[in-house]
Amino acid sequence: SQQIQFADDMQEFTKFPTKTGRRSLSRSISQSSTDSYSSAASYTDSSDDEVSPREKQQTNSKGSSNFCVKNIKQAEFGRREIEIAEQDMSALISLRKRAQGEKPLAGAKIVGCTHITAQTAVRGCLFGGPGGGHQLFHGEESSLSLWNGRRHVQDAPVPSGVAVFAWKGESEDDFWWCIDRCVNVDGWQANMILDDGGDLTHWVYKKYPSVFKKIRGIVEESVTGVHRLYQLSKAGKLCVPAMNVNDSVTKQKFDNLYCCRESILDGLKRTTDVMFGGKQVVVCGYGEVGKGCCAALKALGAIVYVTEIDPICALQACMDGFRVVKLSEVIRQVDVVITCTGNKNVVTREHLDRMKNSCIVCNMGHSNTEIDVTSLRMPELTWERVRSQVDHVIWPDGKRVVLLAEGRLLNLSCSTVPTFVLSITATTQALALIELYNAPEGRYKQDVYLLPKKMDEYVASLHLPSFDAHLTELTDDQAKYLGLNKNGPFKPNYY
Ligand code: NAD
Repeated sequence: SQQIQFADDMQEFTKFPTKTGRRSLSRSISQSSTDSYSSAASYTDSSDDEVSPREKQQTNSKGSSNFCVKNIKQAEFGRREIEIAEQDMSALISLRKRAQGEKPLAGAKIVGCTHITAQTAVRGCLFGGPGGGHQLFHGEESSLSLWNGRRHVQDAPVPSGVAVFAWKGESEDDFWWCIDRCVNVDGWQANMILDDGGDLTHWVYKKYPSVFKKIRGIVEESVTGVHRLYQLSKAGKLCVPAMNVNDSVTKQKFDNLYCCRESILDGLKRTTDVMFGGKQVVVCGYGEVGKGCCAALKALGAIVYVTEIDPICALQACMDGFRVVKLSEVIRQVDVVITCTGNKNVVTREHLDRMKNSCIVCNMGHSNTEIDVTSLRMPELTWERVRSQVDHVIWPDGKRVVLLAEGRLLNLSCSTVPTFVLSITATTQALALIELYNAPEGRYKQDVYLLPKKMDEYVASLHLPSFDAHLTELTDDQAKYLGLNKNGPFKPNYY
């Protein structure tokens, strides 16, 4: 295997602060990652047990202690949560049924790192079902608004052999400890990696590079994780094939557009009780996320402005009936500012200084970089925590700006993500794992790949029955005319 070098951007996990229950705001590796929604776990409920789950001796109903969660006694509660999630994840369930027959993951040993919710537990059941082998999972419960039950769902997948190390309010140190517990296991070694943010992959590269000798592939979900994989590939250091799930259509179009279209309103309502009708809102960035936010806000009667740097997206915004402006032109009058650019310092201190009293500022885009929150941590400004995830930043003249989730992702910190969207993403991930695991030697090299378009179409088709949607079939003549196979793929790979 190739010599692996690491950018020295990560500390050893033992060096991280060990203050349980409070995550550092600057988790080094994920600081710039979409997945630093994990940092939303900075706050824990006051009811939380003071004893670290790492110190507790727990055994599940099957007599296993190979897990670490906050309170295994809540497993039954979590199981019900999973059942609720399953209602809206029928495609994933049908894939699970199919896998029970075909066993496409027989012998697969999957180590994963993702957010642990009822929905990811449904996915865990898929991987751990009879079609799969023994898997170990690392997960991270991160979204603050997920109510208590969700942190206990981890017990349910146990019958299917999924061991979970995760709890809400993990510290930095806990986070890396959990990852380590999933990678460094006596008598068990993973042969597939399922990552969301690149932290797990990074840890294996850094601490256990020999594990890659057995790894058949990496499936990566996030923008940042994918970016790191491309960097490794460019440097000739990627030693196994990797599947970029983030850029598959079923992730991009659904997670970014439709998920944000729903969760922007949820996040704003839960935190501020704001009424949208007649409010002036500026949305920075008119990509997939921005389009979703704008559509939702417009539908509720808000007056929506858009800022863009790209003339194509700006023209799209115009065509959709939005005024395209510079942020500085509207900053004095708007009631809500939402960033969706994937960029940094889109809202600067100068903008914040000029906002009117009670202006709400939040981020739906990238990590915690879009709003210059650091510029607000100055002695002349007072911070007042008014609710969980809601801060009033008060200027010397009494003006207040309402900052949500300290500039981290609003929906992932303050609302839930629709189960149906997670079903689409999870199905895509599952198929990516199956594809990589079953690919004949040589199909995939040490590079980053997109899921074949046909699989994207399969993911979509699995979800159509939920809507009783009936697809039109091409006639032979039509297929010939369009130069397509009647069974797809219907779109070119770049779609
Ligand atoms: P995108 O590239 O389609 O859109 C971003 C848009 O912002 C582009 O059109 C770009 O031209 C514009 N932009 C860049 N810099 C700008 C600036 N300074 N001012 C104004 N506009 C600017 O990306 P996307 O799919 O919309 O995703 C945007 C971000 O949201 C990404 O960081 C992505 O990871 C994140 N994301 C968040 C969620 C969530 O649940 N909150 C879901 C998916 C993606």
